[in-house]
Amino acid sequence: MMLTNESQTLRNDWSRDEILGLFDLPFNDLLFQAQTVHRQNFNPNEVQLSTLLSIKTGACPEDCKYCPQSARYDTGLEKEKLMQIEQVIEAAKAAKASGSSRFCMGAAWRSPHDRDIPAIEAMIREVKGLGLETCMTLGMLSDTQADKLSDAGLDYYNHNLDTSKEFYGDIITTRTYQDRLDTLSNVRNSGMKVCSGGIVGMGEEQKDRAGLLMGLANLPKHPDSVPINMLVKVAGTPMETEEDLDPFEFLRTIAVARILMPKSYVRLSAGREEMNEQMQAMAFMAGANSIFYCDKLLTTPNPKANSDMQLLKRLGISPEKSSAEKDSQQQEADLHQAIAEQKTDHLFYRAS
Ligand code: SF4
Repeated sequence: MMLTNESQTLRNDWSRDEILGLFDLPFNDLLFQAQTVHRQNFNPNEVQLSTLLSIKTGACPEDCKYCPQSARYDTGLEKEKLMQIEQVIEAAKAAKASGSSRFCMGAAWRSPHDRDIPAIEAMIREVKGLGLETCMTLGMLSDTQADKLSDAGLDYYNHNLDTSKEFYGDIITTRTYQDRLDTLSNVRNSGMKVCSGGIVGMGEEQKDRAGLLMGLANLPKHPDSVPINMLVKVAGTPMETEEDLDPFEFLRTIAVARILMPKSYVRLSAGREEMNEQMQAMAFMAGANSIFYCDKLLTTPNPKANSDMQLLKRLGISPEKSSAEKDSQQQEADLHQAIAEQKTDHLFYRAS
């Protein structure tokens, strides 16, 4: 099946063999193709900046093998209850002041309890009121919970597929791949934008990386944001001794994601702390156009905001404006145009 979208046809019928064919391209050919697609759909010299805050940390009942927040692994993480709204607002203000356009809030839950929803709704309203785009990741969502968050103004909901359908059972046993698809469907049906991606470097094979991207690209509608994470090997998790993934294979995954989902934001997510600047620059060349811009990603370290800004400056890349800022710029431009047209009409009237 093909999905048509304004100027370009978007596909959601990719076969794994076609995707593996892209992975197998000579590196320069793959990067060139990805950069070409990127330029057709985005300003290649802009990157969207998101800040991620953990609003409830640790003690998660799920068993995701990569995650230091699972209660099943002894990672020395200090668990914290749901954050007070004042702290969330303060963090969101700081994120906005440092240039972020989106504020993501994450809670280590299997799924939110209905009793937590009013506090969550209040956080969404307050953060949105600051002019930031809002995103949350709270685990599985029922259709009624998704509708409530959407009604409160939540722009994006993150729920990752994590890996291929076939490899999934090696990583998580406490929720199924289908559970994830159901949450994504509830999110999409509620009118919110979907943020969904996965993690590479967990011992999966290339066919699984292709399978992850196939799962994302063949959703009824492509996710609006696609975070691609490199495993952060946290001591105490079952993955602490996992072998490193070849950095070129990571870059290939970004490039293939860009080609399969031309209009989605591809986010260079966890694992950036371990990537040197050259590798990050190549990821932008491969089509990544979003990063997490904060010192910590929930519980794992991330490059300092300052060093990110310096890197973007050296690469001639600017932070993308939030949709609220773009709307207000557009309104201002429309107003200027309307005034200019009025003046022209007036002159024309006087001259005739
Ligand atoms: S990834 Fe999310 S659901 Fe899985 S253990 Fe960590 S916090 Fe829980």
